[in-house]
Amino acid sequence: MHLAAADLSALIALCRAEIDRHGEHLGALDSAIGDGDHGANMRRGLEAVFAERDAIAALPLPAALERIGLVLVMNIGGAAGPLYGTLLMELGRALPDGDEADDLAAPLERAIAAVARRGRSGPGDKTLLDVLYPVQAELVRRSPPGDIAACARSAAHSTGPMQARRGRASFLGARSIGHEDPGASSCALLTAAICGYFEEHRPS
Ligand SMILES: [Mg+2]
Repeated sequence: MHLAAADLSALIALCRAEIDRHGEHLGALDSAIGDGDHGANMRRGLEAVFAERDAIAALPLPAALERIGLVLVMNIGGAAGPLYGTLLMELGRALPDGDEADDLAAPLERAIAAVARRGRSGPGDKTLLDVLYPVQAELVRRSPPGDIAACARSAAHSTGPMQARRGRASFLGARSIGHEDPGASSCALLTAAICGYFEEHRPS
């Protein structure tokens, strides 16, 4: 997937709209196994990024992603803020200088590793990592955006039967089983929105 600074403003608007549309659902998922604030937190984070989108899009691509990460950390809060923030900041740091990136697979691998360290989590812990790992694997395979989006959705769905091992949901033990993880769900929504953009604008 090819990412350019010129895409950022539209991508930010799409992500914000997607989170806004599904905020209630994300809150309901979080109510089942957490404190119910994930939808509101994500809305606040994406609103803050959206408010800065013009300044962000004017930055070189690596600095723009780092800035998005910082704004997300400052505004999402909860457990998800540092995880999404780390993802975007490390993705920015892992990108080559310039306004375009042709290969996102390697930078994303590095960013995901940083998220795993930050959350002290791994595969199967019922977190957004359970979406990020398979999405990164699809990027390595150079799968078309539609396939990556489908993979993200099914990966989020697959967190339902998992028992949470990190975060507030882990306090529920086996009672966390049967509920999709809200962080995995928001991650899949954002991935699908981004893939939809690439499908439309850069058919491969
Ligand atoms: Mg919460």
